[in-house]
Amino acid sequence: MKPPPFEYHAPDTREQALALMARYGGEARVLAGGQSLVPAMNFRLVAPSVLVDLNGVADLFGIEQSEDGRLHIRAMTRQRMVERSSLVAGAAPLIAEAMPHIAHPQIRNRGTFGGSLAHADPAAELPAVVLALDGLLKVQRQAEGEGDDTIAERIVPASDFFLGMFTTALQPDEILVEAILPPLPPRTGTAFEEFARRLGDYALAGACAVVTLDAGYPSGGVVRDARLVLFAVGDMPVRSTSAEGVLRGQVPSVEAISAAAEAATDDIDPHTDIHATAAYRRHLVRVLAKRALVRAVQRAQERM
Ligand code: FAD
Repeated sequence: MKPPPFEYHAPDTREQALALMARYGGEARVLAGGQSLVPAMNFRLVAPSVLVDLNGVADLFGIEQSEDGRLHIRAMTRQRMVERSSLVAGAAPLIAEAMPHIAHPQIRNRGTFGGSLAHADPAAELPAVVLALDGLLKVQRQAEGEGDDTIAERIVPASDFFLGMFTTALQPDEILVEAILPPLPPRTGTAFEEFARRLGDYALAGACAVVTLDAGYPSGGVVRDARLVLFAVGDMPVRSTSAEGVLRGQVPSVEAISAAAEAATDDIDPHTDIHATAAYRRHLVRVLAKRALVRAVQRAQERM
């Protein structure tokens, strides 16, 4: 099938793009890498009457680290660029570890970092990773009544950005312009795990772990903080506060980590679908959460 007719705009600047979004509001969709939007249009699952193509807006591309150590990944940065970035590998190794699991190289060559976040597929890797890293999403729109070139901006924590299946806090006239990832605290390790039937498939279940040990490790040291995010097991990525609560303040023994992974199943409500049953997804969460937490602890120990 082919999509119904639509108007196509290719702005050169962010201001032009935001002005178009303000003009067309709910009728318009942003076109980023097109790897999710174009198939959805061809299947007529969505039928925007206007497309605003961001591929010509140069300042929406790029990766930088600010002096305070925060990593800034602009929305249109291709997934492949993120995967190959030494800056990302150093500052946010969890992102680097997750990238090769996203689809196939051909799709990552076009697909964008921001497109994946805005699309908010519950089985996608990047929303879970950005939530686990306590990321912030910078969102812009045209400021009301102040001329076409004035931009209004808000910063949305990842915990408030993902609202449900394919649903985010983005308003119809807003564009996601950047993800901001805070630096990892000292003595912190991260790890990513997912299970998919074939390399490049969407995950049946996945887990992202971020563990910070206190300064006393290894002689009596404990877990100072832990973040565990599970994905493909509900309508959006889920932070497992139960597992985190079990680990915090504990010596990170195999027993403590196993108890945390078991507790993680309290926080999920997985679906049964043609790919897997809910019971199987629960089993996967136990296994993947444990693996991710064990490896995150090991990496934190290596950074002591
Ligand atoms: P587009 O398709 O252009 O846009 C997607 C949606 O987000 C649209 O509604 C669009 O309007 C909106 N949008 C995009 N950018 C912005 C922005 N800056 N501001 C506001 N709204 C915006 N993804 C995974 O995570 N894991 C996988 O395993 C995986 N497997 C795939 C397998 C196949 C065969 C295919 C075709 C895709 C797969 N994907 C997978 C999806 C891929 O990662 C897409 O690139 C991604 O979901 C969307 O990014 P995009 O840049 O292509 O966005």
